[in-house]
Amino acid sequence: MLRNFEVLAFNNRIFNFGAGPATLPLSVMQEVESEFLNYQSSGMSIVEMSHRNPLFEEIISTARSRAKKLLGLGQDYELLFLQGGARHQFAMVPTNFGNHDRVIDVIDSGVWTKFAHQEISRLKLMPHLVASTESTKYQSLPKYRPEDLDPKASYIHFCSNNTVVGTQWKEFLKLKGVRSVVDMSSDIFSRVLDFAQFDLIYAGAQKNIGPAGTTLVAIKKDWVDQGRKDIPEIFQYSAHIKHDSMYNTPCCFSIYVCGLVLKWIEDRGGLAGLESENTRKAKLLYSYLDQSSFYRSAVHLPDRSIMNVVFRIGDGHEALESKFVSEAEAAGYSGLKGHRLVGGLRASIYNAQSYEAVKSLTEFMDNFYERHKLEL
Ligand SMILES: *Cc1c(COP(=O)(O)O)cnc(C)c1O
Repeated sequence: MLRNFEVLAFNNRIFNFGAGPATLPLSVMQEVESEFLNYQSSGMSIVEMSHRNPLFEEIISTARSRAKKLLGLGQDYELLFLQGGARHQFAMVPTNFGNHDRVIDVIDSGVWTKFAHQEISRLKLMPHLVASTESTKYQSLPKYRPEDLDPKASYIHFCSNNTVVGTQWKEFLKLKGVRSVVDMSSDIFSRVLDFAQFDLIYAGAQKNIGPAGTTLVAIKKDWVDQGRKDIPEIFQYSAHIKHDSMYNTPCCFSIYVCGLVLKWIEDRGGLAGLESENTRKAKLLYSYLDQSSFYRSAVHLPDRSIMNVVFRIGDGHEALESKFVSEAEAAGYSGLKGHRLVGGLRASIYNAQSYEAVKSLTEFMDNFYERHKLEL
């Protein structure tokens, strides 16, 4: 009864609001399906093909140039498709660029920056916590001034979108002479930004780019050469660059689908086109939450993420929230449970999530509210 049959009738698909691996553009998956068994008349599937096959080399180089173009990065950047996810980068960046005599500045805006901070400590390097909002459960972004940074730091680490808590930086402090690293796992390609203000950007594919498996890394060339050479080769950015992201066998299937998604992004007007659509979706959901006395977004208004909308029922009525999750699941809206570390509810509305899906979700929420308002 609650299902939006027009949209759902197609292949019995549901609305997936999960944080990652997340929903992908339907047209991309149809394309994958249509050429899955026989890629470009090669007589074999992309998942069976050597990464040295010219057909795959074409896939990876096209994906690389599409990604660079969308991010507006020039000749001074290298773009890599690595493995191990964002968490591998938590260790790989300090392993390459950490220095025992210098600190690494960390802006702690959520669960993921905390994990990145821990990896730096594990390597016996010196993380320097510049600012943190942990004491207020990360419901706003930390504030800091340029003078809070260590001028001798090896680099500064940020996370652009805090997937778990639902905050997102709208702009970044302009830093002169300090290398900067940003974890963009959950908002890369979602908006227009000066990406060239960062020296290293990374993002696991499974939120906004494609299926899990590959991790996109963009790195400033003049920094790569300063990376340590006394670490295993597989950890060195320079080795991966030298081998065109094929130092070891790359995650071929994931890279292939990412390439198609990047094409899909271009076809939708690039990052400007996506930003306006993403803003429209987020506005719809936040306005619904803000007019409600039943649902509540506790996230500091100016810091709200347009990718992950975190909310609660009342002040965190856990019984009603778990009822919400199970009723939503039964009605065809999946993945709405908040991250296990913070609880509550979360709707992830990445690039591939449609406005219609978000609209339909608000209708479900309204219906749930009508049936359960007396239980609050
Ligand atoms: C999901 C996520 C991670 C972890 O990604 P993995 O690819 O699983 O390692 C790290 N940072 C952010 C911001 C994320 O959203």
